[in-house]
Amino acid sequence: MTLVCDINAGRESLSRLIDMSRQCIVFTGAGMSTESGIPDFRSPGGIWSRMAPIEFDDFVSDEAIRLEDWRRRFEMNEQFLAAKPNAGHIAIATLAGQGKVAAVITQNIDGLHQRAGCARESVIELHGNATFGACLNCGTRHELDEVRAIIKRSGTSPRCDSCGGLVKSAVINFGQAMPVEAMERALQLAESCDLFVVAGSSLAVQPAASLPLVAERQGARLVIINRDPTPLDDAAELVLRGNIGDFLAGIA
Ligand code: NAD
Repeated sequence: MTLVCDINAGRESLSRLIDMSRQCIVFTGAGMSTESGIPDFRSPGGIWSRMAPIEFDDFVSDEAIRLEDWRRRFEMNEQFLAAKPNAGHIAIATLAGQGKVAAVITQNIDGLHQRAGCARESVIELHGNATFGACLNCGTRHELDEVRAIIKRSGTSPRCDSCGGLVKSAVINFGQAMPVEAMERALQLAESCDLFVVAGSSLAVQPAASLPLVAERQGARLVIINRDPTPLDDAAELVLRGNIGDFLAGIA
């Protein structure tokens, strides 16, 4: 492991690794969006210090919990819509546009990589997207405005027009199965890349957090940009401890 805290030296090392790489994949977590004003989960003051997460089984079995989940989703979505992509998002989108980043695998649900200019098909959302809802049974998309209106009118959580199934925000809750296609694509990229850059993840949430190790074990170079230490720092060739924007701004 090489730990570089100096911003200029860190930028230079990262820039060299990106230039040398054949296929660079960026893997992002909640820390990617804190510089846009969206709190992460595990930092002091993060979301977990204010409320416990809602488990998938509880959503399915309990109407009061469904309504609470929707309340939180509306609140969170307003925050997402008010946020703007930050210097890190913009640098990654620019590198992707230049062909230097092949794809972004994200645990984030805020859509900020796409809003920064990353092509939709180059962003793999492992934990879904909070900006719309989907039927748990048939997958039909439901817009949040429509869901909000149903709850306001009826006081009950929405059912799918097509099949009567439960409608839920299109994110993956704890205890819910991972999206198969996104996970398969992410795994394929981890198995074939030669540079894997983690940005803003505690690497504590499985199975997403196992992807950097998959990449490292097949011979890819691993870089971790994170404010706090992670369990995979020892496996990384380069660890940049600090704000993502400081390291990425200027590289593109
Ligand atoms: P996490 O909260 O577990 O960890 C975030 C990490 O980012 C921390 O280790 C912290 O030190 C680091 N960090 C925070 N700001 C940083 C910055 N500016 N520069 C560098 N590092 C910074 O987040 P996680 O690993 O993504 O896992 C939590 C889950 O939370 C994910 O599943 C994700 O879906 C969800 N989440 C998403 C959002 C979002 O979409 N913006 C926000 C909160 C949580």
